[in-house]
Amino acid sequence: MPTSCAPSSLSPADEQRYVVAVRTLCEFTAKSGDLDVRFTPSPTASEGMAGHLTVAARRGADYQTELTVSGDYRHLRVRGRADGYDPRANRLEEVKTYRGDLALQPANHRALHWAQLKVYGCLLCQQLDLQEIELTLVYFDIATQRETLIGERHAASALRTFFEQLCQRFIAWAEQEVAHRKQRDLALEALRFPHEGFRRGQRPLAEAVYKAACTGTHLLAQAPTGIGKTLGTLFPQLKAMSGQRLDKVFFLAAKSPGRHLALHSLKTLLGETRQQPLRTLELVARDKACEHPDKACNGASCPLAQGFYDRLPTAREAALNAAWLDQQALRSVALEHRVCPYYLSQELTRWVDLVIGDYNYYFDLGGLLHGLTQSNEWRIAVLVDEAHNLVERARQMYSASLDQSQLAALRNEAPAALKRPLDRVHRQWNALHSEQTAPYQRHDALPTKLLQALQQAGSALMDHFSEAPSSIDPALQAFYFDSLQFLRIAELFDAHSLFDIHKRDIGRGRSASLLSLRNLVPAPFLRARFEASRSTVLFSATLSPQHYYRELLGLPDTCRWIDVESPFDHRQLQVTVVDDLSTRYQHRQSSLRPIVELIGRQFANRAGNYLAFFSSFDYLEQVAQLLTERFPHIPLWRQSRRMDESARAAFLARFTPDGRGIGFAVLGGAFGEGIDLPGERLIGAFIATLGLPQLNPVNEQVKLRMQQLFGAGYDYTYLYPGLQKVVQAAGRVIRGQDDRGVVYLIDDRFAQRQVRALLPAWWSVEYASIADCTAPGHRLEAVPG
Ligand code: SF4
Repeated sequence: MPTSCAPSSLSPADEQRYVVAVRTLCEFTAKSGDLDVRFTPSPTASEGMAGHLTVAARRGADYQTELTVSGDYRHLRVRGRADGYDPRANRLEEVKTYRGDLALQPANHRALHWAQLKVYGCLLCQQLDLQEIELTLVYFDIATQRETLIGERHAASALRTFFEQLCQRFIAWAEQEVAHRKQRDLALEALRFPHEGFRRGQRPLAEAVYKAACTGTHLLAQAPTGIGKTLGTLFPQLKAMSGQRLDKVFFLAAKSPGRHLALHSLKTLLGETRQQPLRTLELVARDKACEHPDKACNGASCPLAQGFYDRLPTAREAALNAAWLDQQALRSVALEHRVCPYYLSQELTRWVDLVIGDYNYYFDLGGLLHGLTQSNEWRIAVLVDEAHNLVERARQMYSASLDQSQLAALRNEAPAALKRPLDRVHRQWNALHSEQTAPYQRHDALPTKLLQALQQAGSALMDHFSEAPSSIDPALQAFYFDSLQFLRIAELFDAHSLFDIHKRDIGRGRSASLLSLRNLVPAPFLRARFEASRSTVLFSATLSPQHYYRELLGLPDTCRWIDVESPFDHRQLQVTVVDDLSTRYQHRQSSLRPIVELIGRQFANRAGNYLAFFSSFDYLEQVAQLLTERFPHIPLWRQSRRMDESARAAFLARFTPDGRGIGFAVLGGAFGEGIDLPGERLIGAFIATLGLPQLNPVNEQVKLRMQQLFGAGYDYTYLYPGLQKVVQAAGRVIRGQDDRGVVYLIDDRFAQRQVRALLPAWWSVEYASIADCTAPGHRLEAVPG
């Protein structure tokens, strides 16, 4: 691999300068007191934007909005966008939209608003060469559309003094940040691959990632399991960080094991002592990081929220000195400084170099990392682990649903002021409900009247919450949040999504409906996320066919593709398609006995640990029962519905190197991917399903839409998602160069040409009848040991 890659744009002057957003500067230097994330009825993003537009429309024709301002103090550059300036009155305004009683606004919020406005004022005076300026905080009440103006006149010199004071407080930090950056870059340039050589396949992957990083392109990398993908992507990406002047790298995983694997690989890379200046932060969900789950996140309730901002500076410094901030390390720093670990981790995202967290921190509608990247104009690179999961996860991020029975329960208990708006929602919903004749129906258009009623009910709920913020009914609040999400997603509704209604019986002759906005193609939303990243590498063992992922995820045409050759020999894995047996629903009963005979025969030939995958728990249970009757000596254990973490661990613990037996699992569930059972811990898999999503009215509508959009309805809805699960599950068997195993693909459809085309190229597939596979002395019985 080359040793450096030169950036194309930044000048030497930029290298010396530390750039900070006005908001960050003020939050860093002027925020104090308690953390308070109590639910306060605040305006939605669109209400906030509308509020700003209303204020601007009320001003004169000369009124200027969104003024870009910037200024320097020593080598610190401060920049931002001021809301509005009236040149005739020489008045600069900062507009804040709100709901409820302005008098209840916490003092530290008001102080922060003033600090921001004064900095904008200083920068504008400098830009326009003004001696003084009128500064006005405009508080715009969303409910009444009234403005409260709080104004002060300031001399430019006084504002400059204020600005310099903030900068002085920040500059020591900034200098330390610049020094850290230099050290970090030097260390990363000197970073060496931690093993003697790359594994087979790992080198081409690492080179492709490095090239993508250096050329600022995105990369789809299909690379087989077992080559060390995590290290093969992290190492080159970190190596390119200095040359590309990257501010941060985000490693995003679909599930916790992906995060843990990244941390483990990083330890290998940095050495156990981790004496590297690279600041690494693991982001975990609030419910996993919270120290007081019985309390609320405000100073009156939680001791770790009380005085949070007063203790934050020392906690932040201690954390960044530690540099290695996995969940455990961050927790000990937080508790030592008596601050909340979850909110400390959120704060630290601004200052660390590498963030390891879930997809949603970047790809979600309000993803923290994406928001910060935009507001701070960071240069970032993103690594997406097990990227085949991103399609489904992103769909969920941009979908929403609303249940009528939730509303029915609320209406009976609702306070008088909410009765009318909730009744209006009820009426509109009922009208929709009664028009529907079938249990399931897709609609072309959104129910405008119902959405309007929901909007009005949302405003009424907000006003209700503002009047008594300390005694909010959780059920009302839950309905409010669900409606809000539904309205937000409805605003984005287009051909990429479906709107449908499910009608269901709720007893006593009554029925209720479930409204769903289902995103099918997240591409329009993810595109902006890819644009915000200098380079994104999406890697997984199953990214075929690539056009499916490119189109659904919205990857640009310039995104490169690499299909890394498998390091394994086809002789390591004996793949047999049982081509005369059907596992279709109508043939299940007749398939049970042959499958059981096949498992029994294979087990007799080579006793050891196997996984058997089925399309449903019912099917799994029927085969398991018959196997117990027919071959009582074969130990078996089953996946069950809703297994918790310890039950899952117990299931996997049975796969010991000298163990014997069959683990029964559902394809696409917890054991179909992301588990590592090397060597004798797993020597084979039986896959008695193509993994096709269930045939139901929703999936049939998805198929129609996929046909309209991509001309491949069946493939995009059923075939590709199904086969991706099959290949992932089969990928559990061979994990290392010395592994030997078998995979039985049980269904005649595996022999079809378009299905065969989706199986990994390195497999050598045999086709055999069930009679051949179960006949004693059959040629497929001997497995190389
Ligand atoms: S410890 Fe828990 S309750 Fe306290 S501030 Fe943190 S997340 Fe909120």
